[in-house]
Amino acid sequence: MDFNLSEQENMLQSLAGDFATKEVLPKAAEIDRSGQFPIDLAREIGKRGFQGLPYPAEYGGSGAGYVSFILVLEQLCRASMTVGAIMSVNTVPEEGIFRFGTEEQKKRFLTPLAGGEWLGGIGFTEADTGSDPRAITTTARRSGKGFVINGQKQFMALAPVLNVVLLFARREKEAGLNAFIVDSSSSGFTLREPCETMGLRGLGTSVVYLDDVYVPKENLIGEEGQGFDILLEAISVERMSVAMQGVGVAQNALELSLDYARERKAMGRPIARMQAIQQQLAEMAARIEAARWLVYRTAFLRDQGQSIQYESSMAKLFASQVAVDVTRMAMQVHGAYGTMKSLPVERLYRDAKMTEIYVGISEVHRSIIANRLI
Ligand SMILES: Cc1cc2nc3c(=O)[nH]c(=O)nc-3n(C[C@H](O)[C@H](O)[C@H](O)COP(=O)(O)OP(=O)(O)OC[C@H]3O[C@@H](n4cnc5c(N)ncnc54)[C@H](O)[C@@H]3O)c2cc1C
Repeated sequence: MDFNLSEQENMLQSLAGDFATKEVLPKAAEIDRSGQFPIDLAREIGKRGFQGLPYPAEYGGSGAGYVSFILVLEQLCRASMTVGAIMSVNTVPEEGIFRFGTEEQKKRFLTPLAGGEWLGGIGFTEADTGSDPRAITTTARRSGKGFVINGQKQFMALAPVLNVVLLFARREKEAGLNAFIVDSSSSGFTLREPCETMGLRGLGTSVVYLDDVYVPKENLIGEEGQGFDILLEAISVERMSVAMQGVGVAQNALELSLDYARERKAMGRPIARMQAIQQQLAEMAARIEAARWLVYRTAFLRDQGQSIQYESSMAKLFASQVAVDVTRMAMQVHGAYGTMKSLPVERLYRDAKMTEIYVGISEVHRSIIANRLI
């Protein structure tokens, strides 16, 4: 086992850290306050090649790998979890196409996504379910040389800005789901109300209606009925990256807590000198480190060409708990100031909670892990 990062990985980490500190961090509070999607930063992430790190150059990427992707994401999430989440969401159509698409689909769709010209999303969740594929009611009916899709998708991140979405719909009369690349400019693809969420604000999460949306058969990814397998494989990378969102947000909370504990005085001395505070800081650091290495290892396995469905569930379950626990401790270290809207800790607390919920709720990840164990 080699725990050292390569020269290239170190360089990417430092470039991303610089970008995050200078360009993302100053905007993080405003993104949260306004709830506006940070399109300028999304474009910048694309221009810097961060969207295509795991994919080969022939499909618009750089072939740097999943560890590199995770390292960059960690830096962005230390500054703003919403900005990091943009990268995570984009990986779902990228992975789906890369793993299951034809050569032609990779050229047409993956190249602009990985090259940062397009933004992509995922359309799985509906009003009645976000966890159960059997409850999906959006349908894909065969029509001419393609399919006609009808339904409604809930909580679609990036919806106001995305170019394409990897969308899951039930097959007509037969079991299983189909996975399609749907162009968001298609007739009948309508953006409805935004979903006002407590954290991850500014991610453009919205309700989308699909009324007779025509999709040519060339946009079907994989085989008919293979949709659920495609979903599990494609979102495993997003799950790993939500785990890294948890690490990033927790690291930010720890750094703020250290600064505050050195400055804030009680009983005539900095609170950092009090054992009660030291115990909290040590606990935060140890948990973050454990979560970080779980995510790094998951990315390493993906770089070895392995499926990470089990490992990404474990990493997400653990890192999201760490994020919630660490941001709660950070609130405690900050006392009443931690609750103030004008300071970042309360935002980190709200963002952290999101990691336990989206891209598979924790209970579902426990079921995935238990099924494998048993
Ligand atoms: C900010 C944000 C962005 C999102 N982005 C997207 C997106 O881009 N695309 C998309 O498709 N979705 C997206 N989602 C949806 C998200 O992934 C789902 O909300 C999430 O997976 C949980 O589904 P649910 O809300 O339907 O919960 P439910 O599945 O209804 O769960 C409700 C409760 O039942 C329990 N439960 C459900 N199933 C099980 C089970 N099998 N075992 C044990 N307990 C269970 C849960 O633990 C939970 O306590 C987003 C959500 C948010 C908040």
